[in-house]
Amino acid sequence: MTAPKSLSPDTLAAQGLGWITQPHHDIAPAIHPASTFERAGDGSYPGGRVYSRDQSPAYDQAEALLAALEGGHQALLFPSGMAAATALLQALEPGARVLAPRAMYWALRNWLIELSARGHIAVEFYDNADTAGLTMALDALRPRLLWIETPANPTWEVTDIAAACAAARRYGTLVAVDSTVPTPVLTRPLALGADFVMHSATKYLNGHSDVVAGALVCREDTPTWQRARQNRALGGAVLGPFEAWLLLRGMRTLYPRVRQASASALAIARAFERDPRVAAVLYPGLPSHPGHAVAAAQMQGGFGGMLALRVAGGEGAAIAAAGRLQVFKRATSLGSVESLVEHRASVEGPGSLCPPDLLRLSVGIEAVEDLIADLDQALG
Ligand SMILES: *Cc1c(COP(=O)(O)O)cnc(C)c1O
Repeated sequence: MTAPKSLSPDTLAAQGLGWITQPHHDIAPAIHPASTFERAGDGSYPGGRVYSRDQSPAYDQAEALLAALEGGHQALLFPSGMAAATALLQALEPGARVLAPRAMYWALRNWLIELSARGHIAVEFYDNADTAGLTMALDALRPRLLWIETPANPTWEVTDIAAACAAARRYGTLVAVDSTVPTPVLTRPLALGADFVMHSATKYLNGHSDVVAGALVCREDTPTWQRARQNRALGGAVLGPFEAWLLLRGMRTLYPRVRQASASALAIARAFERDPRVAAVLYPGLPSHPGHAVAAAQMQGGFGGMLALRVAGGEGAAIAAAGRLQVFKRATSLGSVESLVEHRASVEGPGSLCPPDLLRLSVGIEAVEDLIADLDQALG
């Protein structure tokens, strides 16, 4: 049933691995809502499944596809990105030291701090873009897990995944990469040495702002991975079958969506890079970005659909500009077909490390001229 290994990931995604559903030879899969499966008279389970909490057939195709796209051993779907990250954190030994980046998805950063305060883990932070500092922190702390997010919310700092993994390996530190923003289209962390990839599948993998889901992928089967599996099966945080079906539907167009968003984000970054109304454009695709060289080496075919504008005139000017946007919709989240803008500091609230003049842009697949014209009028 699985397509030949030599097919490009674009083809695997577009065809959902080429799976055909029996008995009608469906090109699009059926939705599998069954919670339970028939037991034969002799006590066996002819369908090979007992109960859907830990064995839902609704996940098979999307999980197999994501594992193939990431080049991993196995993938697991979760009911949110946060649930996926939590399942991995709960697979660590109690009190395990976790080294996480200073700039990262805000809710996950807060959750790490909370779990640390409760004694489940012990979190420490490193500067995302400082490989030498990260190596020193690994040497000093010998953490159980290194967490990487690159490019990282909301300033798009870049971490050198291969260098970080090489340093982590010296201390037996596991490496997990939140690859929500680059997606397997642009970066394949497992090939760079990471042990786990985590996705908020709510974002690019689904791509249509209509599913909340998450995923973990492992490079190989390990006791830590088995515990993460158990955390889903016994912890019971599972995705619904309709959401899994929608997610697979979204993943079929992942490659053209991400490529279009990346090309448009680069065009927008270039259009406003020297605009006096903009104090700075933060985008790894610009040669002026401090992480450009590393990003160019570890990202293939684009730098992603996320960027930030620091508006000249400060916080008030940034909020006013966001208020004038018409094509960009003011909303949190990212990675969908429609473009979104967010004044990140006010969403993150007290303690936010985000510059107050920063507008985060998630570039969709609309005509890029419309997006540039909208930003141009909004900047006044
Ligand atoms: C949205 C997001 C998350 C959290 O995922 P949910 O699906 O909202 O739980 C984690 N990391 C990144 C980079 C995200 O953008």
